[in-house]
Amino acid sequence: MAIIHELSPHLADLIAAGEVVERPASVAKELIENAIDAGSTRITVEIESGGITYLRIADNGCGMSAEDAPIAFRRHATSKLRTEEDLAAIGTLGFRGEALAAISSVTRIDLFTRQGGALAGRHLHLEAGEIQANEEAGCPEGTTIVVRDLFYNTPARMKFLKKDFTEAGYILGVVQHAALSHPEIAFTLIRDGKQVFSTDGKGKLLAPVFSVFGKEMTANMIEVPKTERNGMTVYGYIVKPHAGRPNRSMQHFFVNGRYVKSRLMQAALEEAYRNAIITGKYPSGAVFLELPLAAVDVNVHPAKTEVKFSQEKPVFEAVYIACKNAIAANDNMPRLEHREKEAPARPREDHLTQEQQRFAVPAPAFSAAPASKAAAEEPPELEDFLVAVPPRAQKPRPHTGYAAAPRIWEGDPPKRTFRPYPVKEPAPAAQSAASCPEAQEQSAAPAPQTPRLEPLDTGARVIGECFQTYLIAEDKDGLILIDKHAAHERILFNKMRAETDMPQQELLAPVIVELTGEEAAAIQARLGDIRKAGFSIDPFGENSFAVRSVPAYLDSGDVQSVIGELAEKAMNSRATVPDQLDDLIHTVACKAAIKAGRATTQMELQDLCDRVLADENIRSCPHGRPTTVRLTKYELDKLFKRVNQ
Ligand code: ADP
Ligand code: MG
Repeated sequence: MAIIHELSPHLADLIAAGEVVERPASVAKELIENAIDAGSTRITVEIESGGITYLRIADNGCGMSAEDAPIAFRRHATSKLRTEEDLAAIGTLGFRGEALAAISSVTRIDLFTRQGGALAGRHLHLEAGEIQANEEAGCPEGTTIVVRDLFYNTPARMKFLKKDFTEAGYILGVVQHAALSHPEIAFTLIRDGKQVFSTDGKGKLLAPVFSVFGKEMTANMIEVPKTERNGMTVYGYIVKPHAGRPNRSMQHFFVNGRYVKSRLMQAALEEAYRNAIITGKYPSGAVFLELPLAAVDVNVHPAKTEVKFSQEKPVFEAVYIACKNAIAANDNMPRLEHREKEAPARPREDHLTQEQQRFAVPAPAFSAAPASKAAAEEPPELEDFLVAVPPRAQKPRPHTGYAAAPRIWEGDPPKRTFRPYPVKEPAPAAQSAASCPEAQEQSAAPAPQTPRLEPLDTGARVIGECFQTYLIAEDKDGLILIDKHAAHERILFNKMRAETDMPQQELLAPVIVELTGEEAAAIQARLGDIRKAGFSIDPFGENSFAVRSVPAYLDSGDVQSVIGELAEKAMNSRATVPDQLDDLIHTVACKAAIKAGRATTQMELQDLCDRVLADENIRSCPHGRPTTVRLTKYELDKLFKRVNQ
């Protein structure tokens, strides 16, 4: 008796659907690609409930004949590929002939199609891949496909779908990519009755760039003019170096008109910004590569977003050179002005983890060599790059030790709003004193009482700490006690609150946080705020969330516990809406702050003491507990009966 048997066509379609149809956005992508391949000049996408219950794509392309329409839903039915040679040079977006078969096997579909000049159109209704109706219909030229109830017959797949707005977001991404790669097509996306995206289809790339990146970012973009090299052409729009973003979500790459995910192109783009962009920021843009069809294989994965270049190095070079030249030609790197605008109150150390921050030695703001000079250089070797890519956005700054500490920000001193306190060495380096007017003032100040610890700006001198909890300092009026944790927490809290664009650090691998149902619901309800506080977090299956980056202040090891704490707060918090973000920021600040009961070095104590005393806004922790307590000399004298009451 035979044990091996052939799968039924329906089962085979279901399996194929698993590869092609993952979520509503994959349906949208396939149908939009079909519409583009059909030569449309106008494509309208309409969705309801994130495209899960309703997704309609209308085009004005070539349409299908009454005979072809039912065949289109068969597996491996395509009009785009006939011979093996065709496969080596694919010019259309579709070619596998599986999309319609796969989509129809897990949805209910209505197809309306009419070829140009045909007297009548055709309407087909399909459920789970079976044609239920096939009739003549009056309809406009072109094709309209309505897809309903995705995965209605495969409920197991249904549960991997995310919330409607998340699915809608993915669809927006798909439409944006299509619009960027086809400026000659007018795209419209309508979500729950509202138009949320559109392009004019007039053929200028700047129009979709504007629609996708928005007015402000587009104003900060540089055109990469068509650049030929190694037999390929690169063009697009990329941001000016100072307009980098905290993550890569605004990087879009296209190969021969197809949106792709390409580490290689990403690497080349980022390499072009080397030394021109602030550490921890990433370039954004849309970069297009055109090369001979035979030099690239798009048939790597059914979703066709991955490509394989027959030779990687020339691709890297072409993208790198084109972008680098564009950046160089745009003489727009005002150094200081840039920093002030970009992050007025944010010294570089803010990008470091709490641990690094305490030891941070401010680095020169921009070590950028004039870009024009750099552009003349040969592109780096691809191999170089491959090892050089940091796995994490923020490379830990090496611990530099105290010897290097007495330096200040390079920049315009009067404009600085924050300056780490310049700690003096026993024999201060002449250079550091010279670079800092205040340091010079101090050297003229009265001789220090101990060789290492001179009186600070604030006039306070750290004596030490007790219980690894309270910092002890003195000034001319008496003793000062500072709660280390509370004070540091307050400092971080204030900084984070002042942040408009929270610096983030990308995690090496996303951390999956599992929660109880109740916690998950609480987090879900506050995702917007949590993201504002600097997390990249998305639902990830039932009661789990994937965290891809965290506020730069936070130790990455704290992710699980901080999300747990946020959930608990969210469940119990009665805070009114405007206070909720503060509440969140507070939780992060608390986690990131030095813990009581942990030994702190003298230098850290000094720095903390100085910051606390210099800033009126650090007198209480975010809970309202005091951070600082004073015991005046007079009170001490009284306690010891040195003075009369
Ligand atoms: P592929 O795109 O890989 O050929 P599909 O399953 O997506 O496979 O589509 C099958 C065929 O149906 C296409 O080759 C094309 O001939 C036809 N078709 C699909 N969508 C459209 C459309 N919007 N306009 C015209 N023809 C279409
Ligand atoms: Mg297709």
